[in-house]
Amino acid sequence: MGAPEVGGCDEVLRHVWPYLDHETDPPTCAEFERHLSVCASCRRVVQFDRKFKLLVRRCADAGPVSRSTLEALRIRVEAELRIRPPSQQA
Ligand SMILES: [Zn+2]
Repeated sequence: MGAPEVGGCDEVLRHVWPYLDHETDPPTCAEFERHLSVCASCRRVVQFDRKFKLLVRRCADAGPVSRSTLEALRIRVEAELRIRPPSQQA
């Protein structure tokens, strides 16, 4: 595994949602992407969160989303993350 020097994974993962929402400022965004380029585990989390967002949006476009649909999605994502923990450090 690489040794990302930018903030570390915990720091980076805090920025995932703002990043996906395009709310990070450009310098942070650049650091974030630099970390992703060297850190496969964070990259994986970002891919997941992005997919999750797309799924939620698609459901929302189709009409009101049932709570059970959202729960099912969340459980699937969490299960996947559990199989391969995003953070190497316990
Ligand atoms: Zn990382």
